[in-house]
Amino acid sequence: MATTTDAIAKVRQEFPFLRRKVHGGLPLTYFDNAAMTPVPSIVQQRLASYYQSDTANIHRGLYYVSVEATRQYEDARKRVQKFINAKHCDEIIFMPGTTIALNLLAQAISAQFAATSNNDSEKTEIILTTMEHHSNIVPWQLQTNLCIKYLPMLANGELDLDALPQLISSKTKLISLVHASNSIGTINPLPEILQLCKAHGLITIVDAAQSVGHMPVDVQTLDCDYLVFSSHKIYAPTGVGVLYGKQDMLKQLPVVSGGGGSIKQVDLDKTSFLPPPAKFEAGTPNISGVLGLDSALEFLMNNDLPQLWQHEQDLLSYATAALQEIDGVRIIGTARQKVSILSFVIAGIHPHDIGTLLDFEGIAVRASHHCTHPTMKHFKVPATVRAAFSFFNTTAEVDLLVKAVSKAIHTFR
Ligand code: PMP
Repeated sequence: MATTTDAIAKVRQEFPFLRRKVHGGLPLTYFDNAAMTPVPSIVQQRLASYYQSDTANIHRGLYYVSVEATRQYEDARKRVQKFINAKHCDEIIFMPGTTIALNLLAQAISAQFAATSNNDSEKTEIILTTMEHHSNIVPWQLQTNLCIKYLPMLANGELDLDALPQLISSKTKLISLVHASNSIGTINPLPEILQLCKAHGLITIVDAAQSVGHMPVDVQTLDCDYLVFSSHKIYAPTGVGVLYGKQDMLKQLPVVSGGGGSIKQVDLDKTSFLPPPAKFEAGTPNISGVLGLDSALEFLMNNDLPQLWQHEQDLLSYATAALQEIDGVRIIGTARQKVSILSFVIAGIHPHDIGTLLDFEGIAVRASHHCTHPTMKHFKVPATVRAAFSFFNTTAEVDLLVKAVSKAIHTFR
């Protein structure tokens, strides 16, 4: 087995983006991997190849190139199935991203609740958590027949699991929660949470946007009903997401967005739909993006993922220890289990100012509320500086971050 240093050096070569210079010649130190991961060369080549030789719309073309593009698109579905260990490949639905997938679920499931409710004035209760990304709050708030209850967080940014049983009543029908927080990194103990919720008959939805690229995600082991993620956080192009749903759940789920490609028969007064996944893939999908996702997953599966992911954890520990040493730095989110996301604030300096000063050193971090207002409120901060490490980052880059943070503090004092 290659040493970790060799493996990281090798994997870095696969990302041309990492050789980019900024501000007229500074090497780029890229730590915004929770917002967007760069793509390896194999993904760039796949996009080029689709537009050079396989440029065709899929599914209904009877000619050679269209059949070939369709085969590649459906092979990508099988690759995703394998990557998250779904039982059937028709449990994989390609979407434009996590946000759209969660909106589809919120609309379709609330319609299901409305159709089966025998009391129009009584709202169905659902559970979210206070650490959700806005994408897993707003779509549910838009459904007027739902009453949302929130599982709170403890001071360290872990969920307060003791509060969960009290939140579940006879009116509670669903829980939707994040696997790993995008703003503070907390990994939620899904097996424990999902087991309890399933024992009460709840529908279970997992937002795996920040976990699927950084730890094993196995939908059969988790036994969740639905799981969603976006491709641009897993070394693939933007504009593609995955909605996984158990076969029997997807069969029951109503269509909320119809059109070409999803139908069996359209008459002027009614439409019948194809079985999943086609039922949920109306319109021309992001074909090149899906092929890019296929290549990104191939790239990941051809690497020693446990070794790469362990390196991310080592970077997190190394950076946490080093930043904690700096006077005035407060780490936001100190859960025992975290993905490689490190959020912090500095006493007396706005996170946006830190972000700008780090950029002057060529360091790309995110300084923001990270689309998690309730999480920011919990920690009583307006925003945080977030360094999100990928396996291609190095301890030397973390050293640059630590040095630049010290320098930024010095500038302000
Ligand atoms: N959930 C989480 C945990 C995320 O990190 C993000 C993206 N930051 C989203 C949802 C939304 O994903 P997208 O913007 O790709 O739809």
